[in-house]
Amino acid sequence: MHIYDTLIIGGGPAGYTAALYAARAGLDTAVLERMSAGGQMGLTDIIDNYPGFPEGVDGFTLGMNMQAQAERFGAKSLYGDVTEVDFTDPIFKEVITAYETHYARTVIIATGANPRELGLPNEQALVGKGVHYCAHCDGRFYKGKTVAVVGGGNSAVSDALYLSRVTEKVYLIHRRDTLRATKIYHEPLMKAENVEFIWNSAVTEILSDGRVTGVKVQNLKDGTEREITFSGLFVSIGRKPATDFLHGTLELDSYGYIVADETTRTSVPGVFAVGDVRTKALRQVVTAVADGATAIHYAEEYLNEL
Ligand SMILES: Cc1cc2nc3c(=O)[nH]c(=O)nc-3n(C[C@H](O)[C@H](O)[C@H](O)COP(=O)(O)OP(=O)(O)OC[C@H]3O[C@@H](n4cnc5c(N)ncnc54)[C@H](O)[C@@H]3O)c2cc1C
Repeated sequence: MHIYDTLIIGGGPAGYTAALYAARAGLDTAVLERMSAGGQMGLTDIIDNYPGFPEGVDGFTLGMNMQAQAERFGAKSLYGDVTEVDFTDPIFKEVITAYETHYARTVIIATGANPRELGLPNEQALVGKGVHYCAHCDGRFYKGKTVAVVGGGNSAVSDALYLSRVTEKVYLIHRRDTLRATKIYHEPLMKAENVEFIWNSAVTEILSDGRVTGVKVQNLKDGTEREITFSGLFVSIGRKPATDFLHGTLELDSYGYIVADETTRTSVPGVFAVGDVRTKALRQVVTAVADGATAIHYAEEYLNEL
């Protein structure tokens, strides 16, 4: 049975920074990722606010570089979807995927966040048949077609802007009469001639003939309903922390985020939470990488005491 000094769940910026610091400190380190390195950064065309890149950097490249840098110091990249953990043994912790169990003295949880769903009955059945959660990944399939984005925050507005460049027309459906998104996004969106705003409205039904054909929306001010016709629905209503696999093993807050302060320590000694998955004020790449470095400082302290 191989026992890693540090096993990191999630290969986004927080995870691979933790891996870099751990491997560089000589710890036997692995990152366990269910998809590909980079996490949410892979959904971003350009990251303009990560220091060191005056012209910005595309998220995919930054993710690949973070992985390569950690691997240069000996961090291993493993692939698998973690479905369960067991933190009861005082010496080693178990991290379980569908195919194998991994053992480690310290575990860093860096699983980030997933898109929030609308929660409508046929939504899941229509994923890939017109329902999408990543405009930058799937928007190009709608060249020359009409699509709709649901949401009003930064992600929704950035998605609508991107889609306005690659599709014929974009409806932006939002529950309020103003956008929650940062002001910097507003002007280019208002200027885009092919974006139509559907304010004060909630999607009540996804219409389909086997593929999405549109939605029914309800006006939240006067209760009236109307149908909007289009072929692609991009749901962009925020993200939820990827903590389902923890099954009560760690303290979570009421939104499902792992309770951890700036030390990244969780309610279980030797288990740390880094990046978007923990309770924090600002969820960005720069705060995720800072967490990754901090966690290894405290993981080393824990290992020395062990
Ligand atoms: C569209 C968009 C644009 C953004 N733009 C910016 C920006 O311009 N600047 C900025 O600073 N930030 C931006 N962000 C936010 C930034 O991407 C995140 O704050 C950052 O990626 C968080 O890093 P993380 O490592 O904590 O988590 P993530 O990046 O979410 O990585 C988590 C990783 O864990 C993996 N994982 C999850 N669950 C499991 C499991 N059970 N088993 C195995 N692996 C698992 C996931 O596949 C993922 O790769 C943007 C986010 C989005 C969605």
